Amino acid sequence: MARAGTTRDLRCRWFVDATGRRRLLQRKLGLQKEATGYGSALWFRVGERLSPDDLVDDSEVGWRLRVPDDRRYFSTSHFMGRGYWVWMIPLVGGETSIGIVAEEKEHPFSTYGTRDRAMAWLAQHEPALYRAIADLELLDCRKVQRYTYGAEQVFSSDRWACVGESSMFADPLYSPGMDFIGFENCIVSRMIAEDAADSLTQERVAYFNRFILSHFETTLSLSRDAFGVFEWPHVTGAKLVWDFYLYWAFTCEIFFRKLVTHHPEVAAGVGEVGTRVVRVNQRVQRLLSDWAAAAASPTPGYEFVDVPSQVPFLESCHGELSRDKTAGEALRGMMNSLRTVEVLAQVILLAAVAEVHPSHAAALARRPWLNAWAVGLDPNAWERDGLFRPTTPPADRSVIGSQLRWLFPAQRTLEGAA
Ligand SMILES: Cc1cc2nc3c(=O)[nH]c(=O)nc-3n(C[C@H](O)[C@H](O)[C@H](O)COP(=O)(O)OP(=O)(O)OC[C@H]3O[C@@H](n4cnc5c(N)ncnc54)[C@H](O)[C@@H]3O)c2cc1C
Repeated sequence: MARAGTTRDLRCRWFVDATGRRRLLQRKLGLQKEATGYGSALWFRVGERLSPDDLVDDSEVGWRLRVPDDRRYFSTSHFMGRGYWVWMIPLVGGETSIGIVAEEKEHPFSTYGTRDRAMAWLAQHEPALYRAIADLELLDCRKVQRYTYGAEQVFSSDRWACVGESSMFADPLYSPGMDFIGFENCIVSRMIAEDAADSLTQERVAYFNRFILSHFETTLSLSRDAFGVFEWPHVTGAKLVWDFYLYWAFTCEIFFRKLVTHHPEVAAGVGEVGTRVVRVNQRVQRLLSDWAAAAASPTPGYEFVDVPSQVPFLESCHGELSRDKTAGEALRGMMNSLRTVEVLAQVILLAAVAEVHPSHAAALARRPWLNAWAVGLDPNAWERDGLFRPTTPPADRSVIGSQLRWLFPAQRTLEGAA
């Protein structure tokens, strides 16, 4: 161990940077890509066990019946509003972590970037949470302004690699940081093993780079334009179903089956599916943010969605991950999931149109099949973008449509305006 103030030269075959936000290697090599930085965050711990149940009084019986036995306590809870979300995370020691994550343009960091301002901000935007913590001591307080950054390259055939936050950081929504650590550590271990076996090629390293950079862009697309959506529970509900489905059906399948690291024989197929998912996802993310921008009021009657009983297709997608599969089966499964994605994109479009352009809703719903890669909220663009020229055979929309009936305001239906 070198003493402070002294330097030592070390030689190694591989150099793996895990220095976090300092990005030792990225800065040294000039590879870091500063993203525009749309979001910032401040977080702190309080020494008390706090549960969402504590934020409502006993008269709010409905709230407690939905998720009985204080089970909400055991997961992260998110409080969403226009341009922000606030996390509440139970920690092992009995403390609770509270964090504000906000879009710079709606809530500049200066409005909540100190302890006092954060408390005043919570009092204004999340008063129930504020009341629960107003008299508690903050054990610490940390912050990061404009947290997003990307990279040009994170793996090299010159035997260096960056993992975790030393490579890239997208957004804390959905906690993808640990996913990046998982993917990157597996890839680095694989590269080192293949190098030791003398089989690591430049093409292979380039493939790993392309995969992780593209995964970063997709992850970013889930959050970059999402802050406007959080204001509306029904649009947020649609977004959660979409994002979770993509995550379990593709990201987790690829990771759980080691498709990128151990199965080059399916790389072409995975790439093809990935490209189609990326394209349809871009359309749907835009659709969701346009829907939120045009939404007039929260959907009447939309209060709580019990995923296992109301969205079984999502639950079964999650359940699939616990089944053993070969790489070929996983790829075929992802191709099938692409069909579900097409249906889902159409159902979300029909729900958005039913609210924002009700005069178009019935005619659109009568079309048996639409081009999921052309969904969008502007009726003037539908013909031009090819919405009515699907490239795949039609499938039944009614099963998933009925599971997402809660997306449709009471007076409207999947089949169009009532
Ligand atoms: C606002 C926010 C909220 C988040 N919330 C969650 C969440 O709820 N769940 C989740 O899973 N993830 C969350 N993340 C992401 C998670 O924090 C990161 O993915 C994770 O901490 C990255 O781990 P890491 O090891 O790459 O970096 P770090 O945890 O930063 O570790 C890097 C380590 O390297 C050390 N180091 C740096 N330079 C040197 C050096 N020269 N020599 C020796 N040591 C050095 C540092 O001291 C540090 O200990 C969040 C991130 C942010 C910004």
